[in-house]
Amino acid sequence: MKPAKFDYHAPTTLEAAAALLHDYKGEAWLLAGGQSLLPMMNFRLVTPAALIDLNRIPNVNYIRSDNGILHIGAMTRHRALEFSSIIAERLPVLTEAIRLVAHLPIRSRGTIGGSLALADPAAELPMLLQALEGEIVAHGPNGTRLVKAADLFEGIMTTNLAADEIISEVRLPTFSPDVGFAVEEYARRHGDFAVAAVTAVIERTGARCKKARLATAGVGPISIRLTAAEAVLEGSHLEDEAIAEAAAKAIDQVSPQTDLHATADYRRHLTGILTARALRRARLMH
Ligand SMILES: Cc1cc2nc3c(=O)[nH]c(=O)nc-3n(C[C@H](O)[C@H](O)[C@H](O)COP(=O)(O)OP(=O)(O)OC[C@H]3O[C@@H](n4cnc5c(N)ncnc54)[C@H](O)[C@@H]3O)c2cc1C
Repeated sequence: MKPAKFDYHAPTTLEAAAALLHDYKGEAWLLAGGQSLLPMMNFRLVTPAALIDLNRIPNVNYIRSDNGILHIGAMTRHRALEFSSIIAERLPVLTEAIRLVAHLPIRSRGTIGGSLALADPAAELPMLLQALEGEIVAHGPNGTRLVKAADLFEGIMTTNLAADEIISEVRLPTFSPDVGFAVEEYARRHGDFAVAAVTAVIERTGARCKKARLATAGVGPISIRLTAAEAVLEGSHLEDEAIAEAAAKAIDQVSPQTDLHATADYRRHLTGILTARALRRARLMH
């Protein structure tokens, strides 16, 4: 099927894009990579009055590292993240995660800003933003504001962005050498959205776990941090018993749904398995 009729705008500044969004009063949608939006339009799941294409705006496609923070322009393609030497060196967990996102043609067009704005509960990048306690820069008609990962995702495919706000940048803290990490995912085929996924990031002082961050995908309406499991791990030596207890806490914390791909119980079971697997792999990194 073809999309319903729509106006098309290709502004060349973020300010002009935000002004257009404002003028359309919530009836216009931003076009980034188009990998999710265009299929939704073709199926007429969404019928925007206008598309505001971000592809002509310069300076929203970059990867920079500055004082321990990675700054990534919202229009940076998944494929650029995948092959970035800065990311491979300073935030290799992102290199690992991005390889699990979709297939090559989709990664060639899809963008980090589009993926976070879409807020698909089974997507890898929202999980990464949560695990790394990152933040986004939201650009609106009245200027910019920072939104922390914990505040960005509000429900299935729903963020706290206002109708006239644009994600312009993503900020992620880079790793120190003592960080161990792993992204564990179960999907039916490589490139499919996750049935369940867990990212683990652990920092150690000597043999002891100083800080643990665990985040999910596919096992609830939004990606969440597994805080009860993190609390078990912090201060532990990441011994098998601590990992088993953390996995049990992880199962208790998630509220998945049953759908065509898996039952809620199976997703809960996977959460425990993937949490333990991610932690065992992350602890080997020291
Ligand atoms: C077959 C298939 C398999 C896929 N598998 C996966 C997968 O395994 N894992 C995964 O994570 N993703 C997967 N995806 C989604 C893919 O990663 C998309 O690229 C991504 O979800 C959307 O990015 P985009 O740049 O194409 O955004 P678009 O489709 O252009 O836009 C998506 C939404 O975000 C809004 N938007 C875009 N940019 C911004 C911005 N800067 N600020 C505010 N709002 C914005 C748009 O208005 C729209 O509502 C898959 C997609 C397909 C079609």
